[in-house]
Amino acid sequence: MQYNVAQLIKEGIGASRHYDIVGDLYDIDENNPGPVHIEGEVRLLRTIEGILAVGSAQMTLAFECRRCLEVASAEMAYEFEEEYVPSIDVETGVKLPIGEDYGPEVVIDEHHILDLTEVLRQYAVTATADLNLCRPGCKGLCPECGVNRNIETCTCDLSRVDPRFAALAKLLDHDADGN
Ligand SMILES: [Zn+2]
Ligand SMILES: [Zn+2]
Repeated sequence: MQYNVAQLIKEGIGASRHYDIVGDLYDIDENNPGPVHIEGEVRLLRTIEGILAVGSAQMTLAFECRRCLEVASAEMAYEFEEEYVPSIDVETGVKLPIGEDYGPEVVIDEHHILDLTEVLRQYAVTATADLNLCRPGCKGLCPECGVNRNIETCTCDLSRVDPRFAALAKLLDHDADGN
C-alpha cells in the first residue's frame, strides 16, 4: 500500500494514476489486532499542494455484538479521500515545510513514497463504529440470568419491571402531565 509518486509529482497538476490496493492492516482495535486483509482501489491525483488520494476499500472486521457481547464479523466497505504532501522537492531535493493541517500519516517521505496504510487504518477504526449486532434481531443477554438468548432459552420472568425504572417512569409521566 505504498506508491512511489516521484514521477506523478513531476507531471504536474491534474496528472493521475490508478492503483489496486492489496495489503494488511494492524492495530485497528482490540478485536482486530491484525493482520486484517484489505483490498480496494485508489486514484492518486496531483494537486497544487501535493497528491489527493481518493479510493475505496473493503475488509472483514471482527466486533463485539452490542446486545449479546459475542464476537462476530462483518464485511465492511468504505470510501476515503485524503490529501498527501511532499516532504522534499522532487526536482531540487530541498526539504519542504509541512503545513499545520497535515498530520504525519499524509506526508510523502524523502524517497517519494506515499503510504496509504495509516490513513486506511484510521478509516477502518471509524468504520468499526457502524458495527452493531451479530445478526439481525439479536436477542441479546437475559437481564436476569445472563444467558445468551440466541443460544439458550431461560425461564426468567421479564414482565416484572425493575423498581428503579418504575420510579423513573412515574417521574417522566408526571413531567408529561405538567406540560
Ligand atoms: Zn448478538
Ligand atoms: Zn434468564
